[in-house]
Amino acid sequence: MDFTISEEMTEFRGIVRTFVENELIPWEDHVEEHDGLPEDVERELRIKAVKLGLAGLGMPEEVGGAGFGTLDQVLIVEETSRALGGVSSGTIPGASNILLACTPEQRERFLYPCIRGEKQDCFALTEPDTGSDAAGIKTHAELVDGRWRLNGRKRFISHGDSADFAIVFAVTHPDQEDDRITAFLVEKGTPGFSVGQVHKTMGHRGYRQAELVFDDCMIDSANVLGEPGQGFVLARDWLRNGRIMTAARCLGPMARLIDEALEWSKQRVQFGQPIADFQAIQFMLADCATDLYASRMMTYNVAWDDDQGQDPKMVSAKASATKVFASEALGRVVDRVLQIFGGTGYMNEMFVERAYRNARIERIWEGTSEIQRVILARSLLKRGMFA
Ligand SMILES: Cc1cc2nc3c(=O)[nH]c(=O)nc-3n(C[C@H](O)[C@H](O)[C@H](O)COP(=O)(O)OP(=O)(O)OC[C@H]3O[C@@H](n4cnc5c(N)ncnc54)[C@H](O)[C@@H]3O)c2cc1C
Repeated sequence: MDFTISEEMTEFRGIVRTFVENELIPWEDHVEEHDGLPEDVERELRIKAVKLGLAGLGMPEEVGGAGFGTLDQVLIVEETSRALGGVSSGTIPGASNILLACTPEQRERFLYPCIRGEKQDCFALTEPDTGSDAAGIKTHAELVDGRWRLNGRKRFISHGDSADFAIVFAVTHPDQEDDRITAFLVEKGTPGFSVGQVHKTMGHRGYRQAELVFDDCMIDSANVLGEPGQGFVLARDWLRNGRIMTAARCLGPMARLIDEALEWSKQRVQFGQPIADFQAIQFMLADCATDLYASRMMTYNVAWDDDQGQDPKMVSAKASATKVFASEALGRVVDRVLQIFGGTGYMNEMFVERAYRNARIERIWEGTSEIQRVILARSLLKRGMFA
């Protein structure tokens, strides 16, 4: 494998690091306090991010994206995730890669505006009764006079309250064993579509989760995404890439936490010497570096495999291993760094306190650690260990 980073990418990474440090991180206090950015600031930052070339990182250039391969996306996500998710998620425009299944007409209405940062989507799969068992969703739609009548409830949908449209998964072919689920593009304001409870969460201020309610919501056939019955296939593709990007999102906070822990331990004096002189602190720093290094290598490696077009089943197994390792490593790193900061680390104004709360979700969303282990074990038993 070859992780050589091109000169252009090294330069671009530097530009992104500066953008994150100068434009995003200064807004973290505001987002923690007010659970979001002022609308005008969010809009301005989004425009800057688009100008910088951060829009639609993984989307092909012909649809207006950055056209990056998986490894290049990982390198940039590692940088942008140094800022708290509540600041970066609303300001760096993205579009679910599932939107590449849009028809030309749908691309104009949904895909291109998302990539330009003018519209935001949300991905609505999870329901009150089905989380890990995503194929068991109950939301359903029937064809009535050429239109789809949608009924059901989704929950924990990120940006569900602010998104311009939702990508909604519903059972349309209940009698079939496979190909039972269809994806729909449901716009805000469609009669019968409403936002229910918006949750208060443990972390990620400014990154809200909402319940979406569909009550005899009538959807035009023109708003079916992909082929009827193929929705779950589309969702699965999205989830594989999502696992790699979740691992990448764990790298940024780990790196920033280690930087902060090094600085703090060198300047914090106890018993007449910097705490960095104590072996107990040094060992925690060493363990943090080991966790970051291993997570980084795994993430780069699976991204590189994906770019090489390796067997998607093997990439999927590796992506599960990587997501488990990186998300759990982040949990260990943030816990040690909080210990290194002592009582100061427990204060809300500190990055480590915020990162501690934010880190917990990485082991849950995009498939819990247990589900990743299930996927990995199944693959091992069927195909053996991956190279
Ligand atoms: C902050 C946040 C944002 C989210 N954003 C979105 C979003 O934008 N769109 C979306 O569709 N969803 C979203 N989700 C939902 C998320 O993907 C689910 O929470 C996650 O998949 C787990 O489902 P669950 O919470 O229902 O837990 P459950 O599935 O009820 O699991 C509970 C426990 O049982 C374990 N478990 C379940 N099945 C098995 C098994 N077979 N073997 C072993 N253990 C098992 C789980 O690992 C877990 O420990 C979000 C969730 C959160 C908290």
